Amino acid sequence: ASHTPVAELAPEQLEAFAQEQRTAYAALREKGLKLDLTRGKPAPAQLDLAEELLALPHGHVDASGTDVRNYGGLQGLAELRAIFAELLHVEPSQLVAAGNSSLTLMHDCLVDLLLHGGVDSPRPWSQEEKITFVCPVPGYDRHFAMLEHFGIDMVTVPMREDGPDAEAVARLVADDPSVKGMWIVPTYANPAGSVTTQEVAARLASMETAAPDFKIFWDNAYAFHHLTADEAKSADILSLASAAGKPHRPLVFASTSKITYAGAGVAFLAASPENVAWHLGHLGKRSIGPDKVNHLRHAQFFGSAQGVRDHMVRHREVIAPKFAEVERVLSERLDGLGIASWTRPKGGYFVSLDVLDGTASRVVELAKDAGIALTPAGASFPYGKDPGDRNIRLAPTFPVLAEVTAAMEAVATCVLLAAAESLQRRG
Ligand code: PMP
Repeated sequence: ASHTPVAELAPEQLEAFAQEQRTAYAALREKGLKLDLTRGKPAPAQLDLAEELLALPHGHVDASGTDVRNYGGLQGLAELRAIFAELLHVEPSQLVAAGNSSLTLMHDCLVDLLLHGGVDSPRPWSQEEKITFVCPVPGYDRHFAMLEHFGIDMVTVPMREDGPDAEAVARLVADDPSVKGMWIVPTYANPAGSVTTQEVAARLASMETAAPDFKIFWDNAYAFHHLTADEAKSADILSLASAAGKPHRPLVFASTSKITYAGAGVAFLAASPENVAWHLGHLGKRSIGPDKVNHLRHAQFFGSAQGVRDHMVRHREVIAPKFAEVERVLSERLDGLGIASWTRPKGGYFVSLDVLDGTASRVVELAKDAGIALTPAGASFPYGKDPGDRNIRLAPTFPVLAEVTAAMEAVATCVLLAAAESLQRRG
């Protein structure tokens, strides 16, 4: 690839460049590939790391002598909560070990806020004329879909390297009491990879909000999912909020979906003691107790907090080479051309690729026609609409390394062709 920015090429040079890309794309289509970079799923090799789970638990009694095969224990198995409380830096009493999905837990909390209100709500949220959430973008599509599902308005703020633009958030929440909450993926964000710093978290924890019951849905899905030895430490949102006199503001979520089994792990909620009691109060009407057999299985599998950390190192060994490959191909093919930028995440499951404005949907279309499934352009924005049509979320964990290489070469080819087309149209 040339290292002159494409936008600086003279018209005949641009035509030569465009011709080169059309040829490369035609060759790509000839290959008849069938590859998929759409969803952040663990690879089979990662799932194999937890194969031992299928033979657990040994016995059926927890540390306190309770038979886990029976009803009860709404807050979850104590020894599993002890392990994850240490990892999440919370008191075990402030942690709930729940079912198989943190997304479900978030949905439950949102529904309870709508139907009943929170511990600090003047009335159920559903009785408000309008509810608005602040959404850092790019962000997680399922968060946005859930808000849309409940008719909750979304306003966006930029996600930056150090977390959401906290000043922009502070302005949005200051005067408008309809702004009831925000979502954050604080550690190795989906898809931007950014890590919310302690400073940004402190600002969000302490900012004045017109709504007395403002909630931060702190979705720490990738808290332990490091890709390098430079391990990010999650900001301690619960302590920060407590210190700021707003202890009930954060609801912290995590799960083992990308630690053990996706969809067959354990989800966690951490919050103020009052929020925990609030949640358990509502949960008690929905359930007699969680799947303690799965809790015990997980507690035995990990053994300790260090057991979780050690397990995450094995994940890293499987997926770090795939991220390195994404970086290698993108930098070899696209660096210096002025048509793309991308993240170099130190953890999590995604690379966020920004292409030339107005070309993301074209890149996804070109890729699709060449047999490569990419996440729809705009997926990381509320209502699926990226105002710049520039962002593409790449998820390299699931395919094997050779497929990551082939898919990324194809993505680069599509990015180049879409850029050439767009620049030629602009003349
Ligand atoms: N939050 C984020 C940010 C995610 O990326 C995902 C999985 N893609 C989830 C939540 C879903 O987690 P769970 O399996 O615990 O429902």
